[in-house]
Amino acid sequence: MVDDTLVKALLAESEMPTQWYNIVPDLPEPPPPHLHPGTRGPLTVNDMAPIFARALCEQEFSTERYVDIPEAVAEVYRIWRPSPLFRARRLEKALSTSARIYYKYEGTSPIGSHKANSSVPQAYYNSVEGVSRLTTETGAGQWGSALAFACQVFGMGCEIWQVRASYEGKPYRRMLMETFGGTVHPSPSDLTESGRAVLAAHPDTPGSLGMAVSEAIEAAAGSGGAAKYALGSVLNHVVLHQSVIGEEVLRQLPMFGEEQADVVYGCAGGGSNLAGLSFPLLREKLAGHADTRFVAVEPAACPSLTQGRYEYDHGDVAGLTPLLKMYTLGQDFVPDPIHAGGLRYHGMSPLLSHTVNLGLVEAAAVGQQEAFEAGVLFARAEGLVPAPESCHAVAAAVADARSRTRPEDSVAMVIGLSGHGQLDLPAYQTYLSGDLADTVRL
Ligand SMILES: *Cc1c(COP(=O)(O)O)cnc(C)c1O
Repeated sequence: MVDDTLVKALLAESEMPTQWYNIVPDLPEPPPPHLHPGTRGPLTVNDMAPIFARALCEQEFSTERYVDIPEAVAEVYRIWRPSPLFRARRLEKALSTSARIYYKYEGTSPIGSHKANSSVPQAYYNSVEGVSRLTTETGAGQWGSALAFACQVFGMGCEIWQVRASYEGKPYRRMLMETFGGTVHPSPSDLTESGRAVLAAHPDTPGSLGMAVSEAIEAAAGSGGAAKYALGSVLNHVVLHQSVIGEEVLRQLPMFGEEQADVVYGCAGGGSNLAGLSFPLLREKLAGHADTRFVAVEPAACPSLTQGRYEYDHGDVAGLTPLLKMYTLGQDFVPDPIHAGGLRYHGMSPLLSHTVNLGLVEAAAVGQQEAFEAGVLFARAEGLVPAPESCHAVAAAVADARSRTRPEDSVAMVIGLSGHGQLDLPAYQTYLSGDLADTVRL
């Protein structure tokens, strides 16, 4: 029996998952390997280890189903985990829907999004291996602030290349990164060869994540081992860390009396929050214990899953990263500067791409006008302002819920609310004043 009175399901700290879940051994076909950018042969741990902590490289290639969460990481997770699962009862009423809408809220973390789920273990493993500084890229600044926070926790430096459009348009995130002790450069910058090359060709570029990745990798590679690089999404080890989200949801849905989620909506930029939410539930589906649909919602301005090609591509502009088999718009693609900065990436997690290719996960694209319309509706109903990225998931869920008015159409929906939008209020202001451009590439 579904409990119609419960508004939020809270787990005790002691009920936090103790292991991350790796979907690789449960997939019907193994995912295509990452390839070495030079030889085009399968990439190895040793190929990656000069740039990433060795423990993270091992996780990248792991075929173990479960990986223990180190106690030092769990201790930091407990600042905000387990995160709450809410029933959006007021939103249901506003939509006159018979659907039961739940949202898993990752905005309770110190930086307001799911990104800290991976920044903390990444900083931890690097610190254990004696790395003194991490370099990274950031779009809107969520990953940069998550990594700056995590580096601070483990006593490391943090150097961040922020996509220029966001560096200029979202100063509060830069202040947050600096508050946590990070050093922030606008990207492209004149501090790296790859940055100088882009600036010479396109002096007015708004920047892109692909460019910022090149700069951060170059800085780590040229540090003589003092610095390593950290990536906030896309790679398998990041998806692994984010699995805490879905593992918690599996424990929380029964508290509402739900046997399963019928459909999951999550936004997809690099794919990590959606995969982290979905893969533990997909494990249950593949084992025949549940029948859940999964929908990855991306911005129409950067539609890698719905319009991109499934092929090997680099994760960055300069071609420094391994070749990853993924849905991609091409390493040179520069998306329009939409407000959902965290979704402006040309590629997609290879693991999520693989599940989309196998038909296990569906994909949909949403314009930013529709995304903010849903975000405002959600804010007014639930009292919580979603991150512009999360608004894409909300929009797809809202459209689905609106079509369900009869009791027999009722389903349990779970929205991945990847973060809050309190540092994105200028974007909401643009929407509210009617000035939002709905740039759609078709
Ligand atoms: C970074 C970010 C995203 C997109 O990244 P994924 O790897 O696709 O999860 C989504 N929502 C928020 C709030 C983000 O900060």
